[in-house]
Amino acid sequence: MSSIKAPRGVRDILPAESWKWAHVFKVSSEVARNFGYREIHLPVFEHTELFSRGVGETTDVVEKEMYTFTDRGGRSITLRPELSASMVRSYLENGMARQQQPVKLWSAGPMFRYERPQKGRYRQFWQLDFEAIGLQNPHVDVEVIDLSLEIFRRLGLRGLEVKINSVGCPVCRPAYRDVIRDFLKPHLGRLCSSCQDRYDRNPLRILDCKNPECKALTEDAPRTLDHLCDECREHFEGVEKGLRLLDVEFSIDKRLVRGLDYYTKTAYEVLSGDLGAQNAVCGGGRYDNLAEAIGGKPTPGVGFAAGVERIVLTMEQQGCDFGPQPAIDVYVASAGDESRTRAFEVLQMLRRAGFSSDMDFQNRSLKAQFKTANNTGADYVCVIGDEELQSKTVTLKDMESGEQQSLTMEETLEFLEKARV
Ligand code: ATP
Ligand code: MG
Repeated sequence: MSSIKAPRGVRDILPAESWKWAHVFKVSSEVARNFGYREIHLPVFEHTELFSRGVGETTDVVEKEMYTFTDRGGRSITLRPELSASMVRSYLENGMARQQQPVKLWSAGPMFRYERPQKGRYRQFWQLDFEAIGLQNPHVDVEVIDLSLEIFRRLGLRGLEVKINSVGCPVCRPAYRDVIRDFLKPHLGRLCSSCQDRYDRNPLRILDCKNPECKALTEDAPRTLDHLCDECREHFEGVEKGLRLLDVEFSIDKRLVRGLDYYTKTAYEVLSGDLGAQNAVCGGGRYDNLAEAIGGKPTPGVGFAAGVERIVLTMEQQGCDFGPQPAIDVYVASAGDESRTRAFEVLQMLRRAGFSSDMDFQNRSLKAQFKTANNTGADYVCVIGDEELQSKTVTLKDMESGEQQSLTMEETLEFLEKARV
């Protein structure tokens, strides 16, 4: 074993698991196409300013979780902790405002947050991220929520809970902040130290605190929903109506304030009962002030990010189907030097014809080769020995039925082509 190990909080996604991930990406890209979202690849690092301004100085992500370093040119660079800010940066930088609105983009890739590693929480983790940028229509919010659920439905996830809330906007949020401060003032001394800190800087976040005492103290806190301006209330009603129209079950959660400052109006989360403490598979919402926060023209947007590790964990726990495991179609087995050379040729012919095939490169016994064929799930074994060399044939064995037949190479390809489903 190497004495250098992977850093704390990161994981290798080994082949035994990566095929499950491939299934999640495949289903996501199908749903993306169904909903008219186009894939975009964005950089893994950005100027630190993009996140400090776009995610918000008072959030956990910016305060405690970012991987920030100075590059050799003296610039402050940060490994992306999330994708929305980069999506909006790219929208602005590439003049996407000139396209049909909303511009619907999706991406999948690793994010980086310096967090305490535990089950379902890593320092490098993958997100599926979908964003619809350019319109304020509540139907777009509903489309985004339904899109995330459609991915989960097609993956076979069950028992998911959808929670929604509205966090208001710069018109109504300041007054609501005061309402929350007034409500908490008598209890200030009993809040946890982080929440005492939040009281002045970002009191909404206190509603989101996991500390049991803070939770108890905020049990009867006033809801944002009772303090929205007319525009935000109308928008929220539009979202509720749209979700009902699509038969989406949801509940309202006044504690859903989201960690991120640029969120406006709709906030939502999808939770799984099968994940333990890290139970959010997906979070999202509207961020109508993000573009301005990073120096662009006011541009509304809405989107979500779903954690791939948590999706796969939930699917495993629920025994969901990941589709067929990748397997070999044909294993080419040979005995003797000459037949091994012929086998290498046959292997190439099979591969060029589009069959996944493999052979032994260690001069092992036929018995050992058959064992490998079995382990790799090969449907057929193509045997080449002295006899086959003489008669310019191969012996094709069906691994399921055990049936064998002697065929020329041409016949073999023809037969396999017919057998291909
Ligand atoms: P949490 O409350 O679990 O910290 P969050 O609000 O920080 O979540 P978001 O920023 O909304 O999470 O990210 C969207 C999704 O990304 C989460 O719902 C979760 O599935 C996943 N996620 C977030 N942080 C991590 C992490 N450190 N490790 C694995 N997955 C994560
Ligand atoms: Mg977090």
